[in-house]
Formats: sequence, C-alpha cells, structure tokens
Amino acid sequence: MQEKGTISIHTENIFPIIKKFLYSDNEIFLRELVSNAVDATQKIKRLSSLNQYQGELGDLQVEIAFDEEKKTLTISDRGIGMTAEEIKKYINQIAFSGATEFVEKFKDAKDANELIGKFGLGFYSAFMVADKVEIQTLSYQEGAEPASWICDGSTEFEILEGTRTERGTDIILYINKDSEEFLSKYKLQEILDKYCRFLPVPIKFGTKTESEPDGEDEEGKPKYKSVEVDNIINNTQPIWTKSPTELKDEDYLSFYKELYPFSEDPLFWIHLNVDYPFNLTGVLYFPKIKNDFELQRNKIKLFSRQVFITDEVKDIVPEFLMLLHGVIDSPDIPLNVSRSFLQADSSVKKINNYITKKVADKLSELFKKDRKAFEEKWQDIGLFVKYGMISEDKFYEKAKDFALLVNTKNEFYTIDEYRDKVKAQQTDKDGQVVYIYTNDAAKQDTFIQSANKKDYDVLLMNSPIDNHFINQLEQKLEKTSLKRVDADVTDKLINKEDNPPHVLTEEQSVKVKSLFEKAIQKPNMKVEIESLSPDELPVHITMDEFMRRMKDMAQMGGGM
Ligand code: ADP
Ligand code: MG
Repeated sequence: MQEKGTISIHTENIFPIIKKFLYSDNEIFLRELVSNAVDATQKIKRLSSLNQYQGELGDLQVEIAFDEEKKTLTISDRGIGMTAEEIKKYINQIAFSGATEFVEKFKDAKDANELIGKFGLGFYSAFMVADKVEIQTLSYQEGAEPASWICDGSTEFEILEGTRTERGTDIILYINKDSEEFLSKYKLQEILDKYCRFLPVPIKFGTKTESEPDGEDEEGKPKYKSVEVDNIINNTQPIWTKSPTELKDEDYLSFYKELYPFSEDPLFWIHLNVDYPFNLTGVLYFPKIKNDFELQRNKIKLFSRQVFITDEVKDIVPEFLMLLHGVIDSPDIPLNVSRSFLQADSSVKKINNYITKKVADKLSELFKKDRKAFEEKWQDIGLFVKYGMISEDKFYEKAKDFALLVNTKNEFYTIDEYRDKVKAQQTDKDGQVVYIYTNDAAKQDTFIQSANKKDYDVLLMNSPIDNHFINQLEQKLEKTSLKRVDADVTDKLINKEDNPPHVLTEEQSVKVKSLFEKAIQKPNMKVEIESLSPDELPVHITMDEFMRRMKDMAQMGGGM
C-alpha cells in the first residue's frame, strides 16, 4: 500500500495563509490536536459500551511528549484510529475543507487579530508550528493495517504503511524554527493548563515526583520515599459535569479555589443545568467584590465539551453579570467561535436570557429563604442587582421584589416596603413621593440629622452605580422623585407645617439669609434658615436637585 497525492489544486497557498493568520495565537494547535485525541478516545469508549467493539480498551490515556533533539512533539491516543481510507476521507477531505473554509473566510479580514484563537482550525492548525506533520495510526477495526500519512506543508501528501502496533493514533509534529518554544516543558504545561485542564480523558505529560509512605523508621515514625508517577494534567470530572445532588458546599468551594487560587471564598453559586432548547452546564459564583472591579471582570471561562475556548464571554453572559466568576460549558457553542458568530447566533441569545433568569431566581430564593442573611450579603451583591435592573428590563421585573434600599440607620427595605414607610411623611404638594438620599453620609451629616429630626428618612446611595440607579427608580416608580438630602427639598414636603417654629424671628432670619447669600455669591445655591432648636445649625445651604445633577454631570465630563 503506497500512495501519493495532492490535497487540493485551487488552494495551493493554504499553509502560508494559516501560518500568517494564526501566528500570534498559534498555541491553539495543541488544543485542537488534544481534543481530536480525546474525541477518538470517547468514540472507542462508546463503541465498546454499545458492544460494537469487543477488544480490550486498555489504558485510555492521551499522552503528550516532546523530544528536544529531534525537535518533535507527539500527541498519542488509544482511540479508534484510522484506516488509510479514513485518512483520505477525514484528513485529506474533511479536515482540509475545514482549513480551506477558514482561509476563505478570513484571508481578507481586517480584524484578524480579534478572530484569532477563537477560530478552531482543526487538524491543520498543526502547520502553524510544524514544517512537517506525520500521522501513525491503527484503526480499531478487525484486520486493520497500520497506516501513516506525511505532509511537509506543501499540498503534497503521502500515505504509506504505518508502524503503530496498538490501536490508536500518534500525531508527530516536526516543530519549525520559529516555534521551538513549544519544545519546552514549561510552555507546554502552561498551554495544557489553559486549554486541557478539564478534558474528560486523562492527559499525561511526562512524570512527576511524589512522596509515598514507606514503612517506619527505628523510632516508629512514618517514612516516605520519592516515586515517579505519571503527570496527569487534568481533572476529568469537574463539578459542572456532575449533578447538583451529588455535590456538597465543600465541593463548590474547592472547585472555586482550583479556578482562582488566590481569591476569597465566594458568597454563593448557581449550578446551571439545562438540556432543552439548548445544552448548557456550568457553575457561576458570586465573588466578594473588591474595589478594583475591572480586575474582576472576564473571569468566566467558556468551555465546549470540557475544552476551554475563551474567557471572553461578553455576548453569552449579560453585561451586568460579567463580574461573576465560574464556568459555562455548552456543546452548542462550537470551538470555532468568532465574535460575529456569537452576536448573530440565536442560541447564544437564548443562553444569555437563561442565565439572567437563573440568576434572578437564585437571588429571589435566597431572599425568601433567609432575609437576614440576604441583607448581610447585600453589600456585595447590591451592585450586580442594581446594574442588572438598570440594564435589563426583564431582570428589573424580577429583581424589584428582592432589591433592597438601605437607609442611614442601616435598615433594609424592599422597594414596596420603602414606599409604604415614607409615603405619609414625604409627599409634596403635587402628590409626588420624595425619596431623600445621601451619597456621602459623613459630609452630609448635618443635613441628614436635620432631615431625621423632621422624621424624614434618608437612603444611602453611595455606590458607584447609584447615580444611574436613582434615575432608573424615578423612571420605574410612579409619582416618585429622588432628592439628595442637601437639595432644597424638605421645605416642600407636607409635614413641614408640623415643624416647631424657628428660634429666630422673621426679621433675624431675613438678615442672616442675605448675609449668607452675599458671602457665597452663587445663584445656584439656596440659603435656608431653618433652625428648629438652639442646638442645631441655623443655616442650610442647598442646591436645586436638578441643577446639582447637571453640575455633577458636567464634572464627570458627560455633556448633555
Ligand atoms: P473536527 O475535529 O472538527 O472533525 P479536525 O480537522 O480536527 O476536525 O479533524 C478532522 C477529522 O480527522 C476528525 O473528524 C477525525 O475523523 C479525524 N481525526 C483527527 N485526529 C484524529 C485522531 N487522533 N484519531 C482519530 N481520528 C482523528
Ligand atoms: Mg478537531
């Protein structure tokens, strides 16, 4: 059996193009070849369980090995293997057509850098790092002969008799000059950790030293000896592949530590598990938020059948949940995802909606189950919830029943509860309910105190997102406005009439007022003389809420 051939006539330049396009993210070749090895292994397992393969399965490890002298990198599996006919079909036609399609699609792309790494090129990605690729394979089929395929990066290939004696496949890469970094243990380990850490078949990469109990010494203390064991780089059964009923809190926490070794424990988590109308599993964690939230974004890892794809989940996870951590795995998201694909794909939109709903349901459940505990977590989750309420109406509708408002006395109210609380005291002449808030309780303390004296409640609105949240509440709640505690608001509220009389006479008030107005010389500001008792500050300088918001916006650089 011997054959020579040409892969395709019209795409002679495919290899230079592949190299050029994928150069900056060429490490994905390993992900592609290892996932092919894993696929082949899963297939033989399935055939065996269906009794369509009666032979021994043997040790199904996939092995990665390199030889610095020969400059080769070999990926070996004990999967189904291929016959020479299958090589022609799967490598020369199917794999090649995948590569051709890739090149056709992206050869004129301007933003190639953005696509790179998200597009799985399959088998031919090997040519990004290798001058020559060799396949040695033996099919599981009875009476199959070992076969080999060699291609030196031109469009010429050779199929010859092979040397493999056991079922399975070796892919041997003759690493090119520019890619010798892939002949380093450190580099390979790093790539394997990134892409292959949760593959479902054990992946061996060299050996490692472990200590093992070795009897006792003369004093009866345990002795240890060093042994060389296989270095298995992956966890074949990560928790998202298991059913929530099999898992304890410790399992979720230790998986979190596995993903983010230096993080504090998360607040809680959501196990995602759906198989209709799309397939998706995963675990999302709510982290403890620190101030540096930019650093905490993009922590969700996207997998497809346990193969890592990307941690850019922008279109799959709603924007407001980008601060969550964890993993999502969906075979409906192909390995070869590109930005434009994600935006257009309808299952991605469904996934996005599903995640939003699951997160809302979980929060609602926590709120109902243990309100006290929920209040304690509010500090950390409030930001997500408010962000979600601002950015997605669907989420607002669910969250309005558990979102909490906190006042300066550290009391928590749902939106409905809060309205009931303040309605009577804080309605103005036009029937608007006025919510009074502070964004800096220390600085605005005198205003808060005097509001409280008048029996007005003051909400704490001091998170970075609260400016927007205030606008959202005003839009969503009927007949409601929010005013900062130092705005000229309190004199317009109904219960003003009940206040005790000023300690200053009318005449004194007018005098003091004009003195202050002259001193500040700011027409935007309003001076109020409203001392209620001798121990209080007699003068408040306030600014109209609308004017102040305009000024704040101008300062933030947001023009109108
Ligand atoms: P895909 O994996 O998306 O099908 P690839 O280009 O990665 O595309 O591979 C093409 C085909 O080559 C595979 O579908 C499979 O039939 C065959 N193949 C590749 N690697 C192996 C392997 N290690 N063992 C058996 N078959 C393989
Ligand atoms: Mg593949």
